[in-house]
Amino acid sequence: MQSFVTRERNEPEKWEVSERIRTFEEIYDFFNNKQVARQAERCVQCGDPFCSAIGCPLGNYIPRWLEAIAEKDLHKAFLLSNESSPFPEILGRVCPQNKLCEGACTLDDGFGAITIGAIEASITDLGFKQGYELPFPGITTDKKVAVIGSGPASISCAHFLLRAGIAVEMFERAQTPGGLLSYGIPGFKMSKKLVERRFELLKKAGLSLHLGTHVGKHLSMDKLIEGFDAVFVGVGATRGKSARLEHEDHPQVYKAMHFLTAVQRRLYGEGWDPRFEVKGKKVVVIGGGDTAMDCLRTAIREDALEITCLYRRDQANMPGSAREYYNAVEEGVEFLFHESPKEFVLNDKGNLVGIDAMKTRLGDKGSDGRRRMEEIEDSLHCVQADVVILALGFDTEENRYLKEAEVDTDDWGQIKVDACGRSSHPAIWAGGDCKRGADLVVTAAADGREAAFSMMETLLKDS
Ligand SMILES: Cc1cc2nc3c(=O)[nH]c(=O)nc-3n(C[C@H](O)[C@H](O)[C@H](O)COP(=O)(O)OP(=O)(O)OC[C@H]3O[C@@H](n4cnc5c(N)ncnc54)[C@H](O)[C@@H]3O)c2cc1C
Ligand code: SF4
Repeated sequence: MQSFVTRERNEPEKWEVSERIRTFEEIYDFFNNKQVARQAERCVQCGDPFCSAIGCPLGNYIPRWLEAIAEKDLHKAFLLSNESSPFPEILGRVCPQNKLCEGACTLDDGFGAITIGAIEASITDLGFKQGYELPFPGITTDKKVAVIGSGPASISCAHFLLRAGIAVEMFERAQTPGGLLSYGIPGFKMSKKLVERRFELLKKAGLSLHLGTHVGKHLSMDKLIEGFDAVFVGVGATRGKSARLEHEDHPQVYKAMHFLTAVQRRLYGEGWDPRFEVKGKKVVVIGGGDTAMDCLRTAIREDALEITCLYRRDQANMPGSAREYYNAVEEGVEFLFHESPKEFVLNDKGNLVGIDAMKTRLGDKGSDGRRRMEEIEDSLHCVQADVVILALGFDTEENRYLKEAEVDTDDWGQIKVDACGRSSHPAIWAGGDCKRGADLVVTAAADGREAAFSMMETLLKDS
């Protein structure tokens, strides 16, 4: 261990830009056995590891699996990594590590943080390749839990319940399970095969999965409360925020999720809505987060002519992962910072031809610690566009069935829960974006785990 003095931080190899923009395949080749051990050997084994305690929302045992893999014990590293996480190979790919575990790594200050995400993904990839299995006991209790939604919060809740021998039935309105792992996050960031494999494992462990089942429409909440010992709600928050500009409902203006879902549905062979064709068009994406980067990089792969990102602040203040920003730059996206959209511009035939924007600058810090954005007088100008995609964040949907079940929500429609994820209804727990607002895969996974542990404590206390 501690080889950081002589050995540099290495990222996994990336495909050449010219190759990767022709496909929706993952762009990284993760580490082999030798590379993963050599990167893990750089770890200092801090007595009080910030990466784990402060950086990782799951509190993963990072230094322990780094040590195991540095000692070439893949099986031990695989089991340790999968002990606290419901899908380490996915989180190692999609977490914004520079803001989480790697940002908290002691070596981030000058030497280059340990490549925690890539090592984590590689350990589980290599372990599965080796044929290692996860310790699911089968259904060993008489308890059963209904899980609504099949995104990361729900997968995590189901995973930990099944590990405790509790039966789980999952109800998902879409035809493909996985929530935003399947219909949101594009395949070039994370192969869809990883999500499919996790569902195969959960089904083998005893999960009953009901697709095309919309709770509140096809199945009432009352039935679930009556028929199960507990219910977990993991229904996400995918209602795109509005730009509050005139002509926002123009057919050449898309919401990010509508565009991404349309493309992913085509890739799944579920049909294609030609309204979302961007081939040969000038595409402008408004927003600076991960969703915006995904839209930009998807538009590139869909053969758009020019792809531009408009963001109100500067690069340092972008909310998403730095890695995804650099990937977008490499793939040819033009970034226009300090731009505040004002109006969609239509020609006399009613076609969208651009978006008017004001230039901005950063002012004093506000109460949230972020510097306020100020518009610069007389700076209005037009950015040409055939299509504008709005990636401005997400709100929760209105879920009437929750109100009917007397589940309390806050002013934004987010489900109110206690520290263990339990809602105002004693048999209903909730987690992920529907509870905290649009956030991250890893925080959804942490919520699902928390709820599962709390359910176990409640349901198994007399067993
Ligand atoms: C484009 C995009 C890119 C992103 N990229 C990243 C990233 O790189 N890294 C990262 O950490 N996070 C990323 N995120 C955020 C992350 O995907 C979410 O925070 C996470 O998926 C939330 O998980 P969840 O389980 O709460 O909800 P979701 O993943 O939204 O899953 C909710 C599921 O519930 C189902 N559902 C809803 N209502 C019902 C009902 N009534 N009955 C049955 N089923 C229902 C939905 O169909 C859906 O499948 C991204 C988000 C988007 C939109
Ligand atoms: S789950 Fe995310 S934050 Fe935690 S160790 Fe893995 S990559 Fe880092």
